[in-house]
Amino acid sequence: MKIIFLDIDGVLNNRKTIQRPMIPWNGEHYHEFDPDCVHLLNYICNETGALLVLSSSWRNGSEERFGSIKEYIANQGVETQIIARTPRAFQLFDENGDFTGRWSKRGLEIDKWLSERNDIDRFAIIDDDTDMKPHMDKLVKTEFDIGLQKCHMDPLLVLLGQK
Ligand SMILES: [Mg+2]
Repeated sequence: MKIIFLDIDGVLNNRKTIQRPMIPWNGEHYHEFDPDCVHLLNYICNETGALLVLSSSWRNGSEERFGSIKEYIANQGVETQIIARTPRAFQLFDENGDFTGRWSKRGLEIDKWLSERNDIDRFAIIDDDTDMKPHMDKLVKTEFDIGLQKCHMDPLLVLLGQK
């Protein structure tokens, strides 16, 4: 199985779209996605057969809220199935024993999810943040200003291979 660990803010939305009015959804309000960024995600999933695991902070909350979020993401045009969300992974102290002030790092959360699976052949991480250790080599980094762009397609194809 191929997986894309997906961030939302700065990937499927961006500085332009977050200025638009938020969209009401099941009692909450969410930022609109950029259709161009969504189109590129659909393209890469179709080309590679990758499925999605949500690593964005959008995943946090109850199972019910996660279900609602998945529906919203589909409503915004994402055609590929979200099969799971990463767990929370705590790292209050860094390698030197110093307090990090960060109680969760995304790379560790991804690592934790992967450690419980033995059926993942290839994966990539799409995110505008860089706290992806120990999986920095799988990160395709976007910019918050513009989100997912055409220039990210080739690196994703290399990481995920063709279908
Ligand atoms: Mg982000």
